[in-house]
Amino acid sequence: MHVNNLAVLTIEDDQDLRRGITAFLRDIGFKVLEAENGHRGLELFERERPDLVLTDLKMPVMDGFTVISTIANRNPDIPVVAISGTGVVNDAVEAIRLGAWDFITKPITDLGELETIAGKVLARAEERRERRNHLLGLEDLVEKQSRRLSDLANVDALTGLPAKSHLEELFQQALLSRGLHGNPALLSIDLDNLRSVNHTYGHDHGDLLLMEAGKRIKSLVQPFGEICRLSGATFALLTSTHADLPHVVREIKTCVEAPFSVFGQEFFLGVSVGIALFPADGESFEKLVRNADIALSEAKALGGNRHLFYSAGLSQRLREHMKLETLLRRALEREEYALHYQPKVDAETRRIVGMESLLRWYPAGAKEPVSPESFIPILEETGMIVPVGEWVLHTACSQYVAWRSAGMPALRLSVNVSACQFDSGTLSDMVARVLEQTGMDPSCLCLELTESIVMRDMQQTLATLGTLADRGVKLSLDDFGTGFSSLAYLRRMPLHELKIDRSFIMNLPGDGNVAAITESIIAMAHSLNLTVVAEGVETKEQLDFLAARRCQEIQGFYFSRPLDRDDFFTCASRPDGFSRKRPLE
Ligand code: C2E
Ligand code: MG
Ligand code: MG
Repeated sequence: MHVNNLAVLTIEDDQDLRRGITAFLRDIGFKVLEAENGHRGLELFERERPDLVLTDLKMPVMDGFTVISTIANRNPDIPVVAISGTGVVNDAVEAIRLGAWDFITKPITDLGELETIAGKVLARAEERRERRNHLLGLEDLVEKQSRRLSDLANVDALTGLPAKSHLEELFQQALLSRGLHGNPALLSIDLDNLRSVNHTYGHDHGDLLLMEAGKRIKSLVQPFGEICRLSGATFALLTSTHADLPHVVREIKTCVEAPFSVFGQEFFLGVSVGIALFPADGESFEKLVRNADIALSEAKALGGNRHLFYSAGLSQRLREHMKLETLLRRALEREEYALHYQPKVDAETRRIVGMESLLRWYPAGAKEPVSPESFIPILEETGMIVPVGEWVLHTACSQYVAWRSAGMPALRLSVNVSACQFDSGTLSDMVARVLEQTGMDPSCLCLELTESIVMRDMQQTLATLGTLADRGVKLSLDDFGTGFSSLAYLRRMPLHELKIDRSFIMNLPGDGNVAAITESIIAMAHSLNLTVVAEGVETKEQLDFLAARRCQEIQGFYFSRPLDRDDFFTCASRPDGFSRKRPLE
């Protein structure tokens, strides 16, 4: 790597270490700036704009975490490397979460390691810059072309938008520029209920809505794409390579769903989107349009108000999906659902401390239940999870109360709650209703939430969690480690328990990285006063690793698979729990 003229800012309060690093980096050709604390470091950073920042984490005046998050927010392209204290994996993990690109741990016995890390992150930064310049060039081209074309060609008479031929020409131009590494995409965008507006209020209303919606979408997508009117209530959008599609779709939905005012009356529209990607879903413009249209029809067949990516197996999958959906619609009244219960075991005493209820579906005639992983997403998409979720909570609580009367000790009952139930705005009322109806003791009930809940509107989330906690119910964060919730958020939530996801446990104890992360998750959880549960524990080695690190509770096939209600009761009534399974057995 060519380091001449590259500037490194070293922020470190330990003077000897700082000087050592400075001398070394100068020797190998860097220009070096030094600061003794985070505050001074940020000042120098603003003034000098170095190419690389090395920062200690624990420093007086301002610590390295603040430096990292400030730079990551303001200048995400400048690499920051954390210098973390001896053996404090925890700090390194937090530094990376905040935006550090890499870390090196003290004591730095071999400065060569620093050189390697610096080389790596600088190369990554260079790559990022190149990619961006390339994309900017392309964006420029698309914009220029779209301007030229809209001057030349005919426009759609109603909406004033360019005709389809313009989009096609844009597509050809982009291909000719030979810059298409990524995927330009074609989106077919359809206004869901325009037909019924036409029908009820007449075409003049419908036409105005169409024009207005076209205008909104066009101004939204202008920076990275061009739209035309394909036919009727359908627009086509061609995006440049770097458009962030999920984001684009969300924005389109938001902008179309905002109320329209036509002839003094308010209208609400839904929107469905079919998406085809170049080149996988078509190398020609026509093919892309056709496949985006197929995806669109299927999105509409699923009830509209959603988006779908085209895929060759879509029609087949769609048929299966629709069949499942039809069957699921009747499953509740036909009493095809059941709950299984998986014991949670105290890592030390090996006694059962609780159980997690897990939903099972036995469609008529099936011997084996269908896996929740294949039907819960459909329940969520269609909103059926709201009534089914209430059934689950009601059934689990009444079962628990019945077990208690039959002599089961006061274990903790965990019930999964999906993000859609959370969004429905009725969750805390539903929980209160079920507690009342079943006579369940709220302090023995724990709701398992996933990180996706946490990542939503924070104010709203905190309010709902607060209401639930006030009702005396415990809250657990399920599948921890698979999402991106930051520690700062966790701190603000009234949580009681954290469940480490099975994907981590699976790789224990052999994978050193996973072992270090798991260890630091356990330490973090303890520092937040949370009970830690490991899920998916299948082997004695995993159990021993976790128990040695004070993970309090264990759930997994090593102790028990999920059991039906009778088997669970038998299991929970064993006075010695699983204590016969000693580590030395
Ligand atoms: P989850 O909440 O993380 O539940 C744990 C899953 O891990 C369960 O899968 C359980 O059977 C499985 N598991 C437990 N120990 C082991 C092990 O040692 N090895 C392996 N390979 N797997 C283990 P299951 O029952 O298939 O449920 C899958 C997911 O479906 C659950 O993940 C949860 O997200 C969802 N789910 C289940 N029941 C409900 C429910 O009533 N409501 C909602 N909203 N979601 C539910
Ligand atoms: Mg769970
Ligand atoms: Mg889980």
